[in-house]
Order: sequence, then structure tokens, then C-alpha cells
Amino acid sequence: MNYKNITIAGSGVLGYQIAFQTAFHGFNVTVYDINDAVLEKSKTKFNTLSEAYKLDLNATQEQLDKTYKNLQYTSNLAEAVKDADLLIEAVPENPKIKIEFYEKLAKVAPEKTVFATNSSTLLPSQFADVTGRPSKFIALHFANTIWIHNTAEIMGHATTDPKVFDELVAFAKAIGMLALPLHKEQPGYILNSLLVPLLSAATNLLVHEVADPETIDKTWMKATGAPVGPFGILDVVGITTAYNIDKIAAETTNDATKIKTVAYLKENFIDKNKLGVSTGEGFYTY
Ligand code: NAD
Repeated sequence: MNYKNITIAGSGVLGYQIAFQTAFHGFNVTVYDINDAVLEKSKTKFNTLSEAYKLDLNATQEQLDKTYKNLQYTSNLAEAVKDADLLIEAVPENPKIKIEFYEKLAKVAPEKTVFATNSSTLLPSQFADVTGRPSKFIALHFANTIWIHNTAEIMGHATTDPKVFDELVAFAKAIGMLALPLHKEQPGYILNSLLVPLLSAATNLLVHEVADPETIDKTWMKATGAPVGPFGILDVVGITTAYNIDKIAAETTNDATKIKTVAYLKENFIDKNKLGVSTGEGFYTY
């Protein structure tokens, strides 16, 4: 692995997890965010994460001390990337913010730096030109709670250099991820291309009053051997996320079933603060 210095841009929900996981695996990590107050907040989140690493991964105090030593922070972008081999972008899922970020980054990053976006729903081809280095630009998509759900989907766009692609596969493995290469650009990568239609089919059955959530989940679990059914998954993902995705689909397609699903989720879950595992109740109680 020829990467040593990794910069993580954005220390929000996913960014701080990527930073900690990367530092835990021995890389020099620089965390960049818009100001020092946000960075201070992320330092406190690292303390919570280290408890999770002890509990879930049996991490030793020595490993965690080394992890902390590998982490540096700055709100100065030029400083953050001055010797970066790889920058992983985890800024908000908003095309305007991402474009402005890449425009600024392109001006200050050294030629060697590879840029990877962690975007869940936006395609790398959308930003390739604005990065100023399309051949060194790629998507590296993690899942929430990356130290446990350690998937890394690696997806180039049409002109990503195959060498960069291979380097990213090696990097993902080097930070303890299960590297999942995609051979072409695909909205939703592999996971959401499979998961979103499954969850959508489940809520369609429910709002059409075909069966109740327990029966639908039982059918899926028993017949396929899956440990959890679509409504169990919805409780883990959070019903708010499903509601937001369905709301956009309802508004853009005017599909009658989607409109019904949105109203159903709002009345029965969102308005009652039954948002899934995070609130102790969703389709099931926890
Ligand atoms: P978040 O809103 O929790 O965090 C975003 C961070 O970016 C914040 O710390 C914010 O201060 C910072 N930021 C805002 N503007 C910035 C700028 N111009 N430059 C640098 N930093 C800036 O978001 P998140 O949930 O961590 O998502 C980040 C990215 O990761 C998104 O593209 C999202 O699609 C992707 N992602 C999220 C999840 C998830 O479960 N949350 C999972 C996989 C991928």
C-alpha cells in the first residue's frame, strides 16, 4: 500500500467514523471541517467511538492511543491536503456544497492526491470535471457504523484511471473493509440497488393491505434464510430516511402508491415519533 497520508473532509456522521477507522489501521489522518468549533465536537465523538471499538472489536488501550496519535485536525484546506495521498470527501449530500468544495480543493491539492467521494446518491461523473483530475477521482462508499458494517463499495466513473481503482481496492482492504468493486457507475451502488426496491415492495404490500409487517418479514426470512425482514431493516435504517426517499419519489412521479405510503408513514410513525430502533419503537418495539 503506497498511501500514507489520508485527509477526511467533513467530520459528520460518516466522516468521523472513516477518520477513526483509517487512523486505527495505522494511517496518518488529517480531519478537515469548516471551522474549529466543529472539529472540537468531532474530537468528543472520537471518545465515544473508542468505547465502541473496545466493546465491538476488543480494541486495546494501546491500539486506541496509537489511533489518537494518528489523528490531526485543521480547518485550513490547503494545510489539510498539503501532503495527502488520498482525500475522502464526506461533506453534506448537497450537489452545490460538493461542487464548491471540489472547486476550492482543486486549487490547493498537490497533483498526487486522489479524491474519493463517499456520496450515497450522487454519481462521481457529476463532479469529475470540477475536481480538475477526473482520472484520479472515484467513489468510495461506506455504510454507517463502519467498524461493524465494514462494506466499502468502490465505483469509478468513465475516465477513472484503472490504477487508481486498484489502489482504492487495496486501501479499503488495508483499513479493514470488505472491498466491493463495481465495474461501472450505478446509482445506489450495489447495496441500495438491491435494498431500496425490497423495502419499497414491502411497504407497497403493507399500504395495499395485502399482509401485516410481521407476516411479510416472516415470509422473507423463512423463505430466504435472511436473519431480518424488510420491516426489521426499516427500523434499523430509520423510518425517517425511508419517509424522505418516498416523499421525493411521490413528488417527482406522482405515483399513487408512493403518495399513500408517505401519508401512512407520516400518520403512523413520523408524527408519533416512532422512528425505529433509535426511538425504541417503529414497526417493532426495542
Ligand atoms: P453530516 O451532515 O453528518 O456531515 C457533514 C460534515 O461536513 C459536517 O461535519 C459539516 O460541518 C461538514 N461540512 C459542511 N460543509 C463543508 C464544506 N464545505 N467543507 C468541508 N466540510 C463541510 O453528513 P454525513 O451523514 O456524514 O454524510 C456525508 C456524506 O457521506 C454524504 O455524501 C452522504 O451521502 C455520505 N454517506 C452518509 C451515510 C450516513 O449513514 N449518514 C452513509 C454513507 C454515506
